[in-house]
Amino acid sequence: MGVVSRVHMAGVWVTLAAVLFVALVPMAIMAADGDPLQDFCVADLASATTLNGKVCKPLAQVVATDFKSSLLNKAGNTNNANSAAVTAANVDNFAGLNTLGISMARIDFAKGGLNVPHTHPRASEILFVAEGTLYVGFVDTNNTLFATTLNKGDVFVFPRGLVHFQLNIGNYPAVAIAALGSQNPGVQQIAPALFTPDINDQVLTKAFKITQQEVNSIQAKFRV
Ligand code: MN
Repeated sequence: MGVVSRVHMAGVWVTLAAVLFVALVPMAIMAADGDPLQDFCVADLASATTLNGKVCKPLAQVVATDFKSSLLNKAGNTNNANSAAVTAANVDNFAGLNTLGISMARIDFAKGGLNVPHTHPRASEILFVAEGTLYVGFVDTNNTLFATTLNKGDVFVFPRGLVHFQLNIGNYPAVAIAALGSQNPGVQQIAPALFTPDINDQVLTKAFKITQQEVNSIQAKFRV
């Protein structure tokens, strides 16, 4: 093989490597629901969940109202221990969202209401304050807190998977609308996740640096 040929081949390999890199990197960093392979796939909510989504109902049966939801048109009941209510419109109750990678929630807060610290394992969240004043924040993986006050019309974004919360610090009820980057963002509330199931007390005494009595006391509050 001549010098020119070798140089040429080297160029081909570099080009091939670059093409592979460009083709594969987006797969490696894909951090949201998968791309749809059709315009839409309105879920057949009666059918079982499949491996990663829901079965489409037949195209001929799809109607405009499959893409409409009235789930968020009224306030949730805030008469509870946290004085707040989250109403979710996700693929489990809004079939038109299936395969589209988004969902929405409405959060109502009585005075002093708290949407307790929680995470969404599959979605970032952007929150719009429709009414009221909220103290909101999230904690990153270095345990750094990013918290601030939101007033009516403000938006705040909570990065995917990070622990976050919203507290009504105004003198009146508040309402916020959250958009989430998954049809099924999931929610895990931190305290209930750890104190509702019967985790071995040693795990909790060590993790929280508290006594067995304190573990029992906290568990009792979540197991009602
Ligand atoms: Mn949230």
